[in-house]
Parts: sequence; C-alpha cells; structure tokens
Amino acid sequence: MRQSGSPPARDRAVADFAAAFGGRPTALVRSPARVNLIGEHTDYNDGLCLPAAIDLEMWVALRPSPGAAGRGGAIELVSETEPAPARVDLPPPGTPPRAGTRPAPGWAGYVEGVAVMLAAAHGDLDGWQGAVASDVPKGAGLSSSASLELAVAAGCAHVTGLPWDARSMARLAHRAENTWVGAATGLLDQLACAGGVAGHALLVDCRDETVEPVALPEEVAIVVLDTSTRRRIVTSAYADRRAECARAARLLGVPALRDAGLGLLAEGAWRLDPVTYARARHVVTENRRVLDMAAALRAGDLAAAGGLLTEGHRSIRDDFAVSSLELDAMVEAALAAPGCYGARMTGGGFAGCAMALVERSRLDAFVPAVREGYRAATGRSSCVLPCSAVAGTAVEPFRDLCEVGPPGPQ
Ligand code: ADP
Ligand code: MG
Repeated sequence: MRQSGSPPARDRAVADFAAAFGGRPTALVRSPARVNLIGEHTDYNDGLCLPAAIDLEMWVALRPSPGAAGRGGAIELVSETEPAPARVDLPPPGTPPRAGTRPAPGWAGYVEGVAVMLAAAHGDLDGWQGAVASDVPKGAGLSSSASLELAVAAGCAHVTGLPWDARSMARLAHRAENTWVGAATGLLDQLACAGGVAGHALLVDCRDETVEPVALPEEVAIVVLDTSTRRRIVTSAYADRRAECARAARLLGVPALRDAGLGLLAEGAWRLDPVTYARARHVVTENRRVLDMAAALRAGDLAAAGGLLTEGHRSIRDDFAVSSLELDAMVEAALAAPGCYGARMTGGGFAGCAMALVERSRLDAFVPAVREGYRAATGRSSCVLPCSAVAGTAVEPFRDLCEVGPPGPQ
C-alpha cells in the first residue's frame, strides 16, 4: 500500500533487486491497479463496465538471467510482500508447455500461469530475475492479481522480445488466472490494467472485448477509499453470484443477462424467485448506468455522474448483496464529506475499497472528513487516496547513474 514517508515503489523495486540479485536491473515494468467506476459484476454477464487504470502501481525491476541461463532457464522473482520467492523453471527450448500440471501455491501460481500461457501462445521464453514492489493492496478490490499477471507478462515479453498488444496480453493473463490459478473472474481487471489511458476511464464491452477511452473531466478526482477490511476472491459467494446470474439468464431465455432489458425482466419476473430477480435487476440496471455514466462524463455533467455512482451502490448493496457494513459506512462518510459528487463500493465486494468522484479543489477538506466520518461509524482507520488515471502496463529501460548495490552478473 502507498505509505506516506516510504520510498516510491519504483525505488523499492530497484533496491530490492540489488539486495536479491546484486547489481542493477536493466529494465523496469510499471503495472497499474484499476478502479471500477461503475459496472460491477457485469463482466461475466457479457456486460459493460467503466474502469480506469490508476496510479497505485506495481513496479518490477528486472534483468535477463545471466549467460546461458537465459532461454530454458528460470524466472526468479522476489516480492516485498511475500516471504518466499517465486521460481518458475522454464522447459528446455523446443519442449511443449506443461499443460495439466498442478499450479504452484501462492503468488508463484500467478507467475507460473502467465509463463505457461505465454509459452503456449508464443513458444520458448527467456529466463529473467525481478524484484516486485507494489503500492496496490492485495485483496482490496483494486486488482493486484491482474497487476501482477500483466507485470510478469510484460517482463517475459521484454526479455524474450515478444510483441506487446494490450488486448491479447490481457486475455492471456485472464486465462492464467482462470485456468491456472483457478479464480473464475471476468476479463475486466486485465483489460483495465493492460489498456489504461492517462486521464481516461475505459468503456469496456465484455462481450466483444472492445475498450473505448472516455475522458475524465479535469476538475474531478477519483478517490480510492480503503476500508482496511480484506477478503479472498476465491470465495463461494462469488461463485454463487455467477450461478444466480446464469440461472436468471436461463429462466429469462437469453444467452446472458447482457441481452435482457428492463422490459424483458418485467415480463419474465414471474419465472424468477425474488433473489434471482433481484440479482438480474442489478445487472440489467447496472449495464444502463455504465452507458449513462460514460455519457455524463463526456458531457462534463458531474452531478449526474455522481448520482449514478450512488444509485449503483444501492443496487449492489440491496439487489446484489455483496456490500458490507464497512463499505456502506465508507460510502455514507464520503457522501457526507465536502466536494463529493457520488460514491460506491468498487470491485468484487464484501470488503476492500469504495471509490468516490470528488471535486479536485475540495480534496483537502474531503480527505480528513471521510477519515473522521468512517472512524466515527466503525471505529476503524482507513486510507483515503486521491488517484489519477494512468496508462496501462509498460516497460521502460532502467537508467540510473547512482550505484544501488555491489556489481552483479550482467
Ligand atoms: P485482488 O482483488 O487484489 O486482485 P486477488 O485475491 O485476486 O485480490 O489477488 C491477490 C493475490 O495476488 C495475492 O494473494 C498474491 O498471490 C498476488 N499478489 C498481489 N500483489 C502481489 C505482490 N505485490 N507480490 C506478490 N504477489 C502479489
Ligand atoms: Mg484479483
């Protein structure tokens, strides 16, 4: 998590690289988190969402493996948050990818999954060493997993010389998370982290996987509101919601809830039990809110945009039932604070973060007011982070004239 006073993640990654591998990295990967402005639990319903890549970022300082340990060598990573390194032994050149073997436990599974999918798509990979430092909180609804997957994909692509295409890399990272790690999440996270555009939200159509940048008015800030509560994504509740949505679509006679409008929902209501009906109503109205939000942002109508956020929170709280006491308290605290246009929980739900759209010129008053309001309601501390929308995952060469450690193998 971004801590005031600690060095930036970029610098921590470089220092950790020197400590773990000796010498300097040759390149740096920057991989953003994403916040979803609106369009929650719509991705696996073939629906619409409006995320933005934000300047809470993961950085990886990296260098190709020395000498002959390159192609067919290993990917060796350390992370400041993980006690154990992740090591993925690459198959000797020409060996088919290891389909069907069991994923490594913990974070190494994400690294391995990306390497397996990349090798299946592009052939042999070169080995590399890297140190991960991240300001993206884990399990907080800001998609640290996609940030990691795309950072690893970018590292592999850079070292091996593979072409980088945001959409196909997002797909590949998504496949790694779904089929290798075993988390049945939608494509939204990876598309947003890979495809971010500075100063823009992204209108994502999860059916045809198209991404259309939507400019954010300059006078508004996206503020991430971390409740300091955490969950794990691989929960039964997430699987339950997916199953409920699939059931609603089946009973309404449509391929996916994306294909149902309010009219069809009203006509078919008698076929759905009250819970299934409520889940479907959230998805159907949420898809509408995404389009309305994109239009409001384009028109610079921040009052309308804020209203849609707040309406979206009620829908996900009452109809989809994936909020929590803390998320609700955070949204209320934000709505009561100066300069707030609207607020909602963001991400999969149950814990983690909410977000608000806030008048930039009133951030100084907004931030302490939310902290105080949330503490008064829950007794908990929180993290309130004004963010900017940034470009997606990218690699830059490492240029630093300072020595950061003893010379290591080049
Ligand atoms: P999120 O909502 O943050 O994506 P997930 O449960 O999907 O939550 O993914 C979190 C997992 O991603 C962590 O348990 C860890 O395995 C991996 N991960 C995230 N950030 C890091 C990091 N900085 N270093 C190593 N692994 C990480
Ligand atoms: Mg995730």
